[in-house]
Amino acid sequence: MKYVCALCGYVYKSSVGDPENGVEKGTDFEDISEDWVCPLCGASKEDFDVLEDGDDIDNDDEF
Ligand SMILES: [Zn+2]
Repeated sequence: MKYVCALCGYVYKSSVGDPENGVEKGTDFEDISEDWVCPLCGASKEDFDVLEDGDDIDNDDEF
């Protein structure tokens, strides 16, 4: 599952995570700490929307 920041378009991928901000790869968006914010614009998790895309062919395998 991927999530996109509604404000700046940053995409969070659970397969990548956000290691620079303490989110290890493999972390589901729902499991990210509530005080995590968008690394690009500082938006809160509430400002993220589920990104439904059919053209994502890279593997999102769980780590
Ligand atoms: Zn953002």
